[in-house]
Amino acid sequence: MKKNEQEYLPGQGRGLVLFPGSFDPFTLGHADIVKRALGLFDEVLIGVGYNEQKQGWMPVGERVEAIRKLYADEPRVKVVSYTGLTADFAKESGAIAIVRGVRSMADYDYEMQMADVNRQLTGIETVLLPASPQFASLSSSIVRELSHFGHDVSAFLP
Ligand code: ADP
Repeated sequence: MKKNEQEYLPGQGRGLVLFPGSFDPFTLGHADIVKRALGLFDEVLIGVGYNEQKQGWMPVGERVEAIRKLYADEPRVKVVSYTGLTADFAKESGAIAIVRGVRSMADYDYEMQMADVNRQLTGIETVLLPASPQFASLSSSIVRELSHFGHDVSAFLP
């Protein structure tokens, strides 16, 4: 290997990436994105976004605590809550990029718009990771719906 190629090995000196989302709740699909982002960046900051106007399914503090517990033994993953614009929070947190998952064309359209706006606002780039096929149909809203109707959702949660 040439000397300068070493800089591009997974997780070698590639900084902090922000993974923002509602994570209401945090699913196996989210965990898959975190795992893969750890192969690209040194650290992953999971930003649990909340809206003061809107209470989620799980209170934001509980979401943060549950995700922290999950990554208690992974020092390269940090979890915080934030409110306001994701791009502003990304800048404040010192992230070099935002990472998001893409499951479908609908996700793709939305993520393209968000990535463009966020780049125009703050210059921050977004890295889109295609959902792994086994998780491509999994969403927090489906988990909430199944749980609402009394189904066991533990198979979808890490
Ligand atoms: P938001 O409300 O910001 O869309 P979510 O918690 O629903 O927050 O999702 C956060 C990110 O994780 C989004 O980029 C979403 O596309 C991605 N994501 C959600 N579920 C999956 C999954 N099953 N596989 C891959 N990415 C996913």
